[in-house]
Amino acid sequence: MPHRITVLGAGYAGAYAAGRLARHLHPDDVEITVVNAEPDFVERLRLHQLAAGPDLRRYELAELFAGTGIRLRPARVTAVDAERRTVTVTGDGGPDRLDHDTLLYALGSTVADHGVPGVAEHAFHVAGRPSALRLRRRLDEPAGNGSVLVVGGNLTGIEVATEIAESRPGLDVTLVTSGELGGWLGPRARRHLLRAFDRFGIAVHEHTTVERVGATGVVAADGTAFASDVTVWAAGFAVHPIAAASGLAVADDGRVLVDRLMRSVSHPGVYAVGDSAHAIGRNGRPLPMSCASAGATAMQAVSAIVGDLTGRRIPKTTLAHLGNHLSLGRRDAIYQLVDGEERSRSWALCGRPAARAKAAVLRVAAFGMAHPTFGMPTRRYRLAAEPDRATEVVAA
Ligand SMILES: Cc1cc2nc3c(=O)[nH]c(=O)nc-3n(C[C@H](O)[C@H](O)[C@H](O)COP(=O)(O)OP(=O)(O)OC[C@H]3O[C@@H](n4cnc5c(N)ncnc54)[C@H](O)[C@@H]3O)c2cc1C
Repeated sequence: MPHRITVLGAGYAGAYAAGRLARHLHPDDVEITVVNAEPDFVERLRLHQLAAGPDLRRYELAELFAGTGIRLRPARVTAVDAERRTVTVTGDGGPDRLDHDTLLYALGSTVADHGVPGVAEHAFHVAGRPSALRLRRRLDEPAGNGSVLVVGGNLTGIEVATEIAESRPGLDVTLVTSGELGGWLGPRARRHLLRAFDRFGIAVHEHTTVERVGATGVVAADGTAFASDVTVWAAGFAVHPIAAASGLAVADDGRVLVDRLMRSVSHPGVYAVGDSAHAIGRNGRPLPMSCASAGATAMQAVSAIVGDLTGRRIPKTTLAHLGNHLSLGRRDAIYQLVDGEERSRSWALCGRPAARAKAAVLRVAAFGMAHPTFGMPTRRYRLAAEPDRATEVVAA
């Protein structure tokens, strides 16, 4: 019987990892199944664009994986039992249970409401495709004037506010943030950001913590009310509660605790990657939830799985956070480099060149996803007679 590898999630981390596993492991020895809630790969990096503008290109997973040997299971994961090595899913055929020998957990993240009342009922967000489409339908409604309030002054808040302001100039856009707008940026990048917000006419309220969201606006901690027709919640990401309920060791924020090789620290044979993993970078800090982290952790996990199953040496992937690349609409952007301590460097690429570079990054990421086994053929390693369950935790 082949060794059953189940990959949960076909986002940047899961789809990429599944493709690499198919490239490296002999198809007679393994059965790779990818479970994903949506039938296609969703370019999450563009969801603010989807919310404000036209449809994104669709990448059907069945087509992407055709000919790779990867089996696709379109279904929603509802539970994981790490001890029994089972995953409960629900799909078209109703609930089902999948058994596995190796599990790669890559369910990504969703919006973090921070327990603020009213977010779920009244706010929109762009953390997933269904929610981004819901926001777009709502933005289409007033057909002209109206007010949009974006809550959050970090990467997603900035990207969604500028995207909406650029593509829907009839709308009044306001951003409120508990800290400073892009306060982590270096001086050059921050000046550029503030100029861009001025140009778009986006009103900014800093040091304003939203305590309640209602149907017609939000109320801040100091009692100030901000009226809005549409409130977009962009105050960070949180992971699904599935990992915490699975018996896997998780961090306080629910991310799966992994060692240097992306192995779960509590359950041999389980690996976690992308936004769902609490992976420590080379500077000793948890890697941020980002596309770059998704790629690096997926690459590392694949090396570990291949090594554990075949007995081959496991190479170490560099786990570094180099910077943030944020769009300011389609024609402007900032690429802010950070140092080893994650402090912004004084230099940053701003304006059109940064926008062109960001567009190239998006294209390259999408190409990688659309060709999950790009570079084939590679060596297809046979499994060791007794695959290692790797109980040893490899420190950073
Ligand atoms: C609007 C926006 C803009 C962003 N911009 C940037 C950027 O410019 N640069 C950057 O580095 N990062 C950016 N990010 C963050 C980046 O998208 C994430 O860090 C990245 O997607 C993480 O990859 P992942 O594979 O871990 O998760 P995801 O890409 O979220 O993939 C998770 C997959 O799991 C599936 N899934 C989830 N729950 C279930 C379930 N219960 N059952 C079955 N399937 C499930 C989902 O459908 C999805 O396919 C942005 C995010 C958003 C929302």
